[in-house]
Amino acid sequence: MTLPARPELAGAAPYGAPQLAVPVRLNVNENPYAPPAAVIAAIASRVKAAAAQANRYPDRDFTELRHALRDYLAEESQATYLSADQIWAANGSNEVMLHVLQAFGGPGRTVTSFSPTYSMYPEYARDTFTTWLPGEREPDFSIDLERAIGHIDQTNPSVVLLASPNNPTGTAVPPATIEALAKHTAGRAILVVDEAYAEFRRPGTPSALALVPNYNHLAVVRTMSKAFAFAGVRLGYLAGSAELVGYLRTVRLPYHLSAITQAAALAALEHRQALMAQVAQLCVTRDYLAAKLRERDLEVPDSDANFVLFGRFADRHAVWQGLLDRGVLIREVGPDGWLRVSAGTEEETDLFLDALADVLDAPGRVG
Ligand SMILES: *Cc1c(COP(=O)(O)O)cnc(C)c1O
Repeated sequence: MTLPARPELAGAAPYGAPQLAVPVRLNVNENPYAPPAAVIAAIASRVKAAAAQANRYPDRDFTELRHALRDYLAEESQATYLSADQIWAANGSNEVMLHVLQAFGGPGRTVTSFSPTYSMYPEYARDTFTTWLPGEREPDFSIDLERAIGHIDQTNPSVVLLASPNNPTGTAVPPATIEALAKHTAGRAILVVDEAYAEFRRPGTPSALALVPNYNHLAVVRTMSKAFAFAGVRLGYLAGSAELVGYLRTVRLPYHLSAITQAAALAALEHRQALMAQVAQLCVTRDYLAAKLRERDLEVPDSDANFVLFGRFADRHAVWQGLLDRGVLIREVGPDGWLRVSAGTEEETDLFLDALADVLDAPGRVG
């Protein structure tokens, strides 16, 4: 018997970056360093206290966590003007953006972004019955303001998703472009700046958080998955106007953020100094990785994230497979011809570079 699924789900595959148990895993932009022992201990102690009250529902407005996230953003981006009611959080920033689409998208409405970009955006659209009409980035993956504005005027979206630094290209959108898009979308759309990789941005690349007080329709989305070495916990968050956050609160399921999650996130935020030291090391590794790939005459867009895109290959799948055969898993994603690799530990990064040299220099080379 066939099941009465929505027609748009016919033949659709669930999100599925391969989870393979190989020695070097550089495929999903995780922080390669495990949390330091002090952080693990703090998580355990906070979670133990939360477990003692597990018979009760958690604080559904996660008040303490909102204050801690506000304080962290004030420190990280000089965003001292945010109040706790301007912060939202959910189980990963994917869920935060789903809340945005649930509140501001919907049947008869359109969401746009600029491709190539994060592969989950069309899924949020599908799952909220919102029409997905992306525009395009330029060949160097930058966003041409006039073209972007033309696309917005043509498609009339109620939500614009702008990843900066972008995945899978690593490229950041200049602040002047973001502000011009904020001005252009005021009163017509929500502008989400997805800053999943913000902590890895290079000096001189500002966060869009500075714009939050000036535009009640602009929201900045962050995550603890990448910089905080916290992908396994699932904690993403947003900073925006209290009015915008109010709508997200309306569409969330009751008690969506478990007491265990809230406890673990609070512990990690308390230990942010130790975790940010890892971020600084990863930025050094990212730049080293880009330099080494360029030495091989490969193209690498400037990255403000913890990964780089590199290419181009006539047969990228063969390169990806060749690396996997040597125990190195990276990601086959983005425009044809390109591959994406995350900055690993120094050892993992060198293992990747050695394996790549092996694949590309082998007799009867591929790619
Ligand atoms: C990794 C990533 C996210 C974060 O996802 P979580 O649900 O917070 O783990 C969001 N946006 C982009 C562009 C990403 O690459």
